[in-house]
Amino acid sequence: MGLKLFNTLSRSIQEFTPLDPAGKQVGMYCCGPTVYDFAHIGNWRTFVFADLVRRYLTFKGYTVTHVMNITDVEDKIIKGVREAKSTLREFTGKYEAAFLEDLKTLNCARPHQMPRATENIAPIIALIEKLVARGIAYKAADGSVYFSIGNYRGSGCTYGRLLKLNLDELRVGERVASDEYDKESVADFALWKARVPEDGDVFWPSPWGNGRPGWHVECSAMSMKILGPTFDLHLGGEDLKFPHHEDEIAQSEGATGSAFVKYWLHGAFLLVEGKKMSKSLGNFFTLRDLLAKGFTGREIRYLLLTAHYRETFNFTLEGLHGARAALARIDECQGKLREASRPLSRPPDTLSPPGGERDGARGMSKLTADFSGALDDDLNISAAWGEVFKWVTETNKHLAANSLSATDAAAELTAWDKIDSVLGIGAPAEIEAPAVIVTLLEARQAARKAKDFKKSDAIRDELKAKGWAVEDTAKGPKLKRI
Ligand code: AMP
Ligand code: ZN
Repeated sequence: MGLKLFNTLSRSIQEFTPLDPAGKQVGMYCCGPTVYDFAHIGNWRTFVFADLVRRYLTFKGYTVTHVMNITDVEDKIIKGVREAKSTLREFTGKYEAAFLEDLKTLNCARPHQMPRATENIAPIIALIEKLVARGIAYKAADGSVYFSIGNYRGSGCTYGRLLKLNLDELRVGERVASDEYDKESVADFALWKARVPEDGDVFWPSPWGNGRPGWHVECSAMSMKILGPTFDLHLGGEDLKFPHHEDEIAQSEGATGSAFVKYWLHGAFLLVEGKKMSKSLGNFFTLRDLLAKGFTGREIRYLLLTAHYRETFNFTLEGLHGARAALARIDECQGKLREASRPLSRPPDTLSPPGGERDGARGMSKLTADFSGALDDDLNISAAWGEVFKWVTETNKHLAANSLSATDAAAELTAWDKIDSVLGIGAPAEIEAPAVIVTLLEARQAARKAKDFKKSDAIRDELKAKGWAVEDTAKGPKLKRI
């Protein structure tokens, strides 16, 4: 069955057909992090969603080029650099490194290319020059360059493709310099911002004088440089529809005259008590906050992957405990399957019913087919998890009835591996204790060595409260998930 996706551009569910005439190559761009702080798990919901799209397209046999930019120069960053009295690279480098580390912790496949805006100033300037040459952008008195919405519309293009905008009130020549603005302030937006004293050392030379690029034009330039003027998929959180993505379309189509992106996908927000998780509201957790509470990247990934991407999802710590329990069910089933798959563990004559119907192999093909049937339907991940847990229940029944041969059990494990190439939650053997847990274990060992058993017992209790048991083996202590 073919994959269907909700395209924000057409506001409808459409069959996914790549631009590649051979139907094989897929170009996908997801707006990446603005590296002025640690990403919160609301941001991570969007990046895990992008990872799901990439993994599922790969599962379907496409060859995906996944591009995610690093926004390392924009308004918030300049402010951060100024406040930290740091250099741009020093300031952004710290958060970029943290982002890459978090990406790994959440087992997100690393995008094939991660261009930095500051390393793409030349293509950004070239794009702005094209817009100026076409009469769609103009230089203002201060040396900044603005995109003219009036001229863009005058050339027959539509501004307001991803959402309905009221442009009747648009006053020609009115401008907005800020990278972020709302629908009420639709106006000509900045492509190039002339240097001001507050920018410090953050500026580059350009045909319009010293300055720096606006945020929106960075993504247009980097995506088209790598994926070409027209590519298949562009993703981001729903807040990016306007102005960021609308402006990306206008800049790109205004410069090239070709369609920019075939399918626009937007992920819904992660909420906390009904409100968007965000830095400005202060209601956020970073990934590190949750790891420090003893949760694993795997549990957090699972939770972020439970709801359909177009539905808002309320984040709670109870939800993470639920994720732990759900994963334990999957792990237990896998553990038993692994045991059953060892040929010597169950001679064929112990199978019951002897020689009777064994639907292990049938079960396997059903798991992958049911799973991908759910995801083909606009990436209906909650339905896909439903299929996984149905499979767990069925498999447990067969295991209890002793009706799976070693071959059947191995086939089920192969099926699991296949769908896990999409889910990315791995096998229990791959679980690593987070750093905070390992540190506690080390402190316990030190206390035992010092014969401070009161302290070592207290640490053991703390570990238990965080969901980890310590087993003292001949080879030293081992951590186990409770
Ligand atoms: P930023 O680093 O602020 O540019 O954001 C990175 C990505 O996270 C963007 O695609 C945003 O749309 C997305 N995002 C921000 N807040 C949330 C949230 N609460 N839930 C889901 N995605 C979000
Ligand atoms: Zn972007």
